[in-house]
Amino acid sequence: MNYIKALQHPIFKVISQSAEELKIDSYVIGGFVRDFLLGKETVKDIDIVAIGSGIALAKQVAKNLSTKPKVQVFKTYGTAMLRYDDIEIEFVGARKESYNENSRNPVVENGTLQDDQNRRDFTINAMALNLSESKFGDLLDPFNGTDDLENKIIRTPLDPDITYSDDPLRMMRAIRFATQLGFTIEKESLNAITRNCERIKIITNERIVVELNKILESDKPSIGFLLLEKTGLLKYILPELIALKGIDEIEGQRHKDNFYHTLEVVDNICEHTDNLWLRWAALLHDIGKAPTKRFHKKIGWTFHAHEFEGSKMVYRLFKRLKMPLNDKMKFVQKMVFMSSRPIALVNEEVTDSAVRRLVFDAGDYVEDLMTLCEADITTKNPKKFKKYHNNFKIVRQKIVEVEERDHVRNFQPPITGEEIMKTFNLKPSREIGTIKEAIKEAILEGDIPNEYEAAYELMLSEGKKLGLTKVG
Ligand code: ATP
Ligand code: MG
Repeated sequence: MNYIKALQHPIFKVISQSAEELKIDSYVIGGFVRDFLLGKETVKDIDIVAIGSGIALAKQVAKNLSTKPKVQVFKTYGTAMLRYDDIEIEFVGARKESYNENSRNPVVENGTLQDDQNRRDFTINAMALNLSESKFGDLLDPFNGTDDLENKIIRTPLDPDITYSDDPLRMMRAIRFATQLGFTIEKESLNAITRNCERIKIITNERIVVELNKILESDKPSIGFLLLEKTGLLKYILPELIALKGIDEIEGQRHKDNFYHTLEVVDNICEHTDNLWLRWAALLHDIGKAPTKRFHKKIGWTFHAHEFEGSKMVYRLFKRLKMPLNDKMKFVQKMVFMSSRPIALVNEEVTDSAVRRLVFDAGDYVEDLMTLCEADITTKNPKKFKKYHNNFKIVRQKIVEVEERDHVRNFQPPITGEEIMKTFNLKPSREIGTIKEAIKEAILEGDIPNEYEAAYELMLSEGKKLGLTKVG
């Protein structure tokens, strides 16, 4: 088959010509070929294999481009990268790899195209298009990757036990591609992942997180997490989720399976947000339930303060996985910590003051929090489902009203500590905090409007209660 149509981007002609000049063969391989055959239009990154030096080819291409891009050389890997039109183009010399037990880093020798295709992770990622002038666009597909694309199958080119054991990251990649593409992992491959799952321990957390993020960025992440669980990988990566599995029953009282519930929440939220960190929050929102689970004879199962416990666990989990301990982590913590607040709110009448407090506490994240809580509704009872969603609609409406009227988001009290000190001629002292707190409470309760005049009056009366007198 010829797919010259895939190679319309002008860069391919330049690569082809550069390779001719060096008298070597070159091919485009991997994700680009796969994505073209899947009908994906956008080009993200391109992988080029040279039968010879990939670095030399990259340099030749750079020389022939009018933009004269910088070539980044990775000597240890024998690869080079350059950017053109926002596309990252990676060059590598065809290679043959052999692995040993304890490392992901293989012994590498120069090889043929076929050797290079053998070392690829999946048949659908091993297809190459010829870039030489006489065979421009010819497909080289030794493992029938096109059939596997057609049949939506993830399969390794060689024995899956060897493929996964050689580089255990491929187990994560298999599951990630299955999730992104909605493909099935072929049975032998799935069994091999299960057999080799413990080897994931030799992979760095950073690489694991890259794959986890890609799973979470898919339309239906539950596909990936169910596979991670089924193959045994999840217990090495996110044991906090495994701890949510199962239903206990005491005296006829059961609680829901919080693992499957969590996956439903994640799928739900993906319909409403692309924010990766909000998706992480959905994944972790209930992790505090495992360590806080108790049974009480009178009230049944409780998960007291699981939100607080969960938010502490978020920090430890991010740290363990070497994820950034920055404002993203804090955002996830905050979402987890507040994840029951709106629900508690709709169980009673939705009062203005409760909504005002919610907006005050959640600040700019109040909409994200509502999105999380709506996704958290997984009841199979249609009446309840409708009731909860309606109640949240009321809350959202009230948030808008309260916001317009009271401006409590990112609330700055209308009276500062300095003004209190000046008014009563005070040095820094506890009284100032007491008065400030009283003003904040009165505003959030709705006893006074969020305005200077009203707050000033309250300051005077609160000061009086404390035996203070206004000076001047
Ligand atoms: P995407 O970029 O959409 O995530 P991709 O298939 O391009 O998908 P990359 O990580 O960019 O994935 O890798 C490019 C190619 O390199 C793959 O298509 C595959 O042929 C090969 N490859 C990447 N990682 C591995 C690995 N761990 N083992 C074997 N081959 C791999
Ligand atoms: Mg790629």
